[in-house]
Amino acid sequence: MAYDKSARPNRKSRKKVCAFCVDKVEKIDYKDTAKLRRYTSDRAKILPRRVTGTCAYHQRELTTAIKRARQIALLPYTND
Ligand SMILES: [Zn+2]
Repeated sequence: MAYDKSARPNRKSRKKVCAFCVDKVEKIDYKDTAKLRRYTSDRAKILPRRVTGTCAYHQRELTTAIKRARQIALLPYTND
């Protein structure tokens, strides 16, 4: 199941680094929908860490920001 990180350093997957850590972002702006949108799927679902490479701290900040943005209708809850 899932994935086994102890096994072979597999094909083409360079280790992803959290984009927010790179930019030294501390607080994620929930009004920055352009950025937030990159972390949601085409159906407006929040992408998991393993897809985006976001670290635990920033993933948490990110989900909070996205949920906040949804409440004030900056982002959709679903996209059907
Ligand atoms: Zn981070």
